Amino acid sequence: MSLRGFLSEMEERREVVHIEESVSPRFEVSKLAMEFDGGPILFFENVEGKKVVVNVCGSRDRICLALKSRRQDLHRKLVTSMHYLRTPEVVDSAPSQEVEEPDLGDIPILTHFEKDGGPYITSGVIYARSSKLGVENVSIHRLQVLDDSTLAIRLVPRHLYKLWMAHKMEKKDLEVSVSVGVHPAVHLAAASSPPFGVNEFHIANSLLAGELKLVKCLKVDAYAPAEAELIIEGIISWEREALEGPLVDILGTYDVQRMQPIVEVKAVTHRKDYVYQAIVPSSMEHKLLMGLPREALIWEAVSKVVPEVYGVRLTMAGGGWLHAVVSIRKQREGDGKNALLAALAAHPSLKHVVVVDEDIDVYDSEAVEWAIATRFQADRDLIVVKDVRGSTLDPSSDQERVLTSKVGVDATKPMDKPKEKFEPATIPSTSRIEGLIESLRKRLAIR
Ligand code: MN
Repeated sequence: MSLRGFLSEMEERREVVHIEESVSPRFEVSKLAMEFDGGPILFFENVEGKKVVVNVCGSRDRICLALKSRRQDLHRKLVTSMHYLRTPEVVDSAPSQEVEEPDLGDIPILTHFEKDGGPYITSGVIYARSSKLGVENVSIHRLQVLDDSTLAIRLVPRHLYKLWMAHKMEKKDLEVSVSVGVHPAVHLAAASSPPFGVNEFHIANSLLAGELKLVKCLKVDAYAPAEAELIIEGIISWEREALEGPLVDILGTYDVQRMQPIVEVKAVTHRKDYVYQAIVPSSMEHKLLMGLPREALIWEAVSKVVPEVYGVRLTMAGGGWLHAVVSIRKQREGDGKNALLAALAAHPSLKHVVVVDEDIDVYDSEAVEWAIATRFQADRDLIVVKDVRGSTLDPSSDQERVLTSKVGVDATKPMDKPKEKFEPATIPSTSRIEGLIESLRKRLAIR
């Protein structure tokens, strides 16, 4: 249940493209990754003599394969894993500790976009525990390389921030591990948002049916996946901070510079022939890993207020973060609006949400727009909420106070009109015509 295990499954499905040519970690890997965004996994054989992989979770279907789930069951599976936690086994020796390096100097860390503040580790899964608070936490944070043994870490005021603040109060550093090169289930679990106090490795282990193994770090009081490609051990300093950023985030725009805490690197270990995993900011992989756990939360919240939820999608153009489409089976007038309110409450960064009936495919943006065109009246079906807490990333919002306006669009059929008025027209067909369509499709594809 490792990254390389998943990669070899993907090799068999021809989902991996190997690039033998020498490619620079500065702009060249990210340029190629974004050129083929949403496409295959790109495996670079020679990035300053090292191996680098990107786009591992670059499609929803690959994530479904990784979690052994059908697309329509994915949200249920993610929600279930958050409720049925499994403690991973701790092993004594691990492939992720085969080789020890003095510092970060030899690792092919990428610089992604033109105005980025520098090279960034973007796929690091960070584990920390606080004996004081009695909690463990696992989450993903971007790490800017300041020098070979110092990183700046972006701490959004969520769980790891809370742990760090508790240590800062006592003037104590927080010991952490940063794992690079992990199975997609570990990334998804680390990107999910269970209540404070839940160790996200236990969610990952639940997703992996008990196959996740952890190992104790060599120099700090922390754990990391035994089968990771690379582990950085360090401390988040209680007192040292540095200017972090700018870096492109999910919306494809630059996030601003801020003073952020520093990670002092204490040890670097890796597999003998490790592959360095990167997630290019604003790539589909980035949006899917951030968005999927939020879709699951929206799915769960809307399920509680309407009889049935069919689909939830955070759209790619909305950064997998700001725009949602939810399809429901409406039973009574007003279900659509309750679904809108539940979705907005489930994911505080959500800005625009559209609710449609179950006959509309949430993955088909044209169909969603058609539902808005034929089933929505602004004076009756629109919700606007002013000055609510939103995302820090949206440049059109009040980024100082993190306030935004939210819109809910209820594009479900009104129940006071005959159903037939809203049905898409169809043309009768026969098996002979279906066969002809099939052969025409093949001819057109070859052409
Ligand atoms: Mn957490």
